[in-house]
Amino acid sequence: MTKGRFGQYGGQYIAETMMSTVQELEEAYNHYKNDPEFQEELQSLLDNYANRPSLLYYAQNMTEDLGGAKIYLKREDLNHTGAHKINNVLGQVLLAKKMGKTRVIAETGAGQHGVATATACALLKIDCAVYMGEEDIKRQALNVYRMKLLGSEVHSVTTGTGTLKDAVTAAMKDWSNHPLDTFYCIGSTMGPHPYPTMVRDFQAVISKEIKDEILEVEGRLPNLVLACVGGGSNAIGTFYHFLEDESVKLVGVEGSGYGVDAPDTAAAMQVGRPGLYQGMKSIISQNEDGQVMPVYSISAGLDYPGIGPEHAHLADIGRADYVAIDDSEAVAAFEYLSRMEGIIPAIESSHAIAEAVKVATKMNKDQIIVVTLSGRGDKDVAAIARYKGEELYD
Ligand SMILES: *Cc1c(COP(=O)(O)O)cnc(C)c1O
Repeated sequence: MTKGRFGQYGGQYIAETMMSTVQELEEAYNHYKNDPEFQEELQSLLDNYANRPSLLYYAQNMTEDLGGAKIYLKREDLNHTGAHKINNVLGQVLLAKKMGKTRVIAETGAGQHGVATATACALLKIDCAVYMGEEDIKRQALNVYRMKLLGSEVHSVTTGTGTLKDAVTAAMKDWSNHPLDTFYCIGSTMGPHPYPTMVRDFQAVISKEIKDEILEVEGRLPNLVLACVGGGSNAIGTFYHFLEDESVKLVGVEGSGYGVDAPDTAAAMQVGRPGLYQGMKSIISQNEDGQVMPVYSISAGLDYPGIGPEHAHLADIGRADYVAIDDSEAVAAFEYLSRMEGIIPAIESSHAIAEAVKVATKMNKDQIIVVTLSGRGDKDVAAIARYKGEELYD
């Protein structure tokens, strides 16, 4: 099986009964990605609804404070709904409409992808149902209410541990029961082909813009590009248009939770090994028996036991490096950027900021780092306060 491969990773590891449904999606995507009208409509949604292009912001205070490389932030936090996820969902929901589907389903963990999908479905007038584990529903009441406000159904998933992986299973089951009218919108570069490629293509707008913007202000390419990695969609979007530019170092930053030595660390690239998970082959955190166990990071967007297959391949061939940042380092970076630049970053993005702080001082003043700020941190304020021992009530 060579379709949708990145080296040995990727592929389509799905039940026979799902094959024709996934194939229909693959064929539709292959058609519309080369359709100028589709691309024009998508670009118009990105520009006029999502607020693209996003700023490439020179973080002067941070640069001067650290005294090393010049730091730029790619401001995905300024997109509508506050993160990069809108880039992908607008693409997929537009594709669903083109395919004549009447219903979109999605899985969500902390609720960010669910809210983004519900948003795109409201805009494009298509029914939306979001699967969410019952534990996550309890923890994320605000996002559940947001999705309902946006006109979406939210289905509580009570099987397994009642978390993201069970929501994925429930969404898959729904899709296999309604293959004709339903489009399954996946939130990161994971799952069977064509998802990892399709989601990457929709997120590649990030690096396309960074390249134009940095050439405009600096007249040259950055030395280092950094992004946080959960499933890997903002990171691959950040890397994509630099893959051929060998002088640009690409680094993905995973959340290690209590540290890479903790048994439940979410840093899959540090402790994982090749395996099959959710329809793809990739680097997956698993125990000795090959069982995928729940992983932990303070960041709900980074506590995924695997990584997108293209990242696994980029690591294999040495084109990108993957490092880990733990909870305490990420929280310190969350506070640092808030103070230093007046920008409260998402706790996911704070992992990338933490790595930038670490390496900038070791670089020269004539070198350039671009960090993708995948989202804004308003959603995390209460959790960080709690982490610091303060209880907030709203
Ligand atoms: C979902 C999310 C992530 C992690 O997802 P990727 O697919 O790895 O990009 C990172 N940052 C924010 C703000 C998110 O909402």
